[in-house]
Amino acid sequence: MDRNGATAARQQVLDEIRKLERFVLVTHEHPDGDALGSLVAMHRILTALGKDSVMLMAADEFPLPYEYRFFDLQGLSTVPPSDLVQRTIIFLDCGNIDRTPLAVVKGDDAHILNIDHHHDNTRFGTVDLVDPAASCTAEIVWDLMRTLGVEPDQDLAEALYVGLVTDTGKFMYENTGPRAHVMAAELIDAGVDTHAIYRRLYEDMPYAKLALLARALARVERHDGGALTIAHLTREDFDATGAEDSYTEGIIDHLRSVEGTKVAALAREIGIDGDVHHSKVSLRSTDGEVDVSAIARAGGGGGHRQAAGFSTELDDEQLVAFLREQIAAQMALSST
Ligand code: 5GP
Ligand code: MN
Repeated sequence: MDRNGATAARQQVLDEIRKLERFVLVTHEHPDGDALGSLVAMHRILTALGKDSVMLMAADEFPLPYEYRFFDLQGLSTVPPSDLVQRTIIFLDCGNIDRTPLAVVKGDDAHILNIDHHHDNTRFGTVDLVDPAASCTAEIVWDLMRTLGVEPDQDLAEALYVGLVTDTGKFMYENTGPRAHVMAAELIDAGVDTHAIYRRLYEDMPYAKLALLARALARVERHDGGALTIAHLTREDFDATGAEDSYTEGIIDHLRSVEGTKVAALAREIGIDGDVHHSKVSLRSTDGEVDVSAIARAGGGGGHRQAAGFSTELDDEQLVAFLREQIAAQMALSST
C-alpha cells in the first residue's frame, strides 16, 4: 500500500469516528486473539468517546475457545441491531468480506471502515485502512486510540495486548518490530498483567488439547527432504480425544520448528459430506523463502506471507501433492 493512501485512509477513519455516532463492529469467523482483542478494544474506544457501539458476532461462535473466554463481551449481540442500515460497520482483522459469517453486514450500500493488516486484503471497504506493516490489527487500533485521545483502562489495554501477543507469537515472529514493543510497554504501563494474560492464553489448557497434539505429532510426515512438514488430523482424532476444533491452535508451531522445514502444514478434517472430505489447512513459512499466502490463495484462502490458510476438499494425498508442487515452484523461482 502506498504511504499516502495509508495516511489518507487513516485520517478518514479518524474523521468518521469523531463525526459519526452509531457503529457496529465485526470480525472474521472463528475469531483468534487479534480478532477478538481488536473488536473489544475498538468497542471500548468508541464507548469512551460516547458513541453507540454494538459488537456483532454469529451465535455459533459461542462458546469461544477456552483461552478467550475471559474477555468481557458486554455490548455484544448475536443478532443485528434493528437500526443496522444507519450504522457504520467497522470490520476488524478481516482480509476479505466473505470471512465474516454475517451476511447481513454485506449489503451493497453498507458504509464500511475496513481496518486490517493482511497484505492481501481485498479492499472491500468504503474506507480501507489496511497496513501490512502492522504486526496485528490491534496495533492499528492502538494507534487510533492514541490519536483519538482515549486513555486505556486495564481492560482496554489487555484486549489490545492479547491481539499483540497472539499475532506476534509472543513477540517472536518476523512481524515483531520496535513498534510492537513500544505498544507493549505502553499497555503494561496502563495496567496489563502480562503473566496473567500469558497464563490465560497459553496455560490452563484442557488435557484433551495435549492428547490431540500427541496424535498430530505421531502422524507427522516430511516431504522433499523436510521442506514440507505436515500432519493430518481426522474427525476420529477429535472424537477420541474429546478435543474441540480450536485445540489445534499451536500444533503447527511444533511442525514449523523442525530443522530443514520450509513450510509447515496442518490439515484438519472439518466434516465429511458423502465422499467429500472438507478440511481446513493452516500453513506457516519458516525463513520466509516461501510465501505461504500465495499457496493459500491458490487453494482459495489467503493470509500473511508467513501464516496463511485455506479450506479444501482435496484428500490427504492430493493435498500433499498440491503443496509440494506449490513449494517447488516458489523455491525454483527464488533460486534463479
Ligand atoms: P490459522 O492457520 O491460524 O488458522 O490462520 C493463519 C492466518 O491465515 C490467519 O491469520 C488468516 O490471516 C489466514 N487464514 C486462515 N484461514 C484462512 C481462510 O480460509 N481464508 C483466508 N482468506 N485467510 C485465512
Ligand atoms: Mn490479525
